[in-house]
Amino acid sequence: MSECLFCKIIADDIPSDKVYEDDKILVFKDISPKTPIHLLMIPKQHIDSLAEVTEQDAEIMGYMMTKVPQVAKEAGLEGGFRTVINTGDDGGQEVYHIHIHILGGAGRMPFV
Ligand code: 5GP
Ligand code: ZN
Repeated sequence: MSECLFCKIIADDIPSDKVYEDDKILVFKDISPKTPIHLLMIPKQHIDSLAEVTEQDAEIMGYMMTKVPQVAKEAGLEGGFRTVINTGDDGGQEVYHIHIHILGGAGRMPFV
């Protein structure tokens, strides 16, 4: 069994509050939300981080980008949202299964 936390969430070995799922990706609520709405979008195929992405991942990375606006709209983020991909230790990445943070719901956010 994978030791990866998010692979365990995909496998339902660890429960999560899912908001969208299909055969390629899962979107669930962050357990420690930084904004009123804070979602995490992950690919079902394990990729460590954005630093490891190669041309072979172009399809799934592009697919996730096309799903972000749909998920954000369904979450009620009509006024806009922020997407963040923390990468590597210096980027503040804690879970090494690539994920897109989708943040919003608190009005206009200051940059950083
Ligand atoms: P990172 O710092 O790697 O970009 O973000 C990891 C995110 O995963 C953090 O915002 C953290 O709150 C969230 N997280 C960590 N463990 C869990 C968990 O077990 N369930 C959920 N839903 N989110 C988690
Ligand atoms: Zn994983």
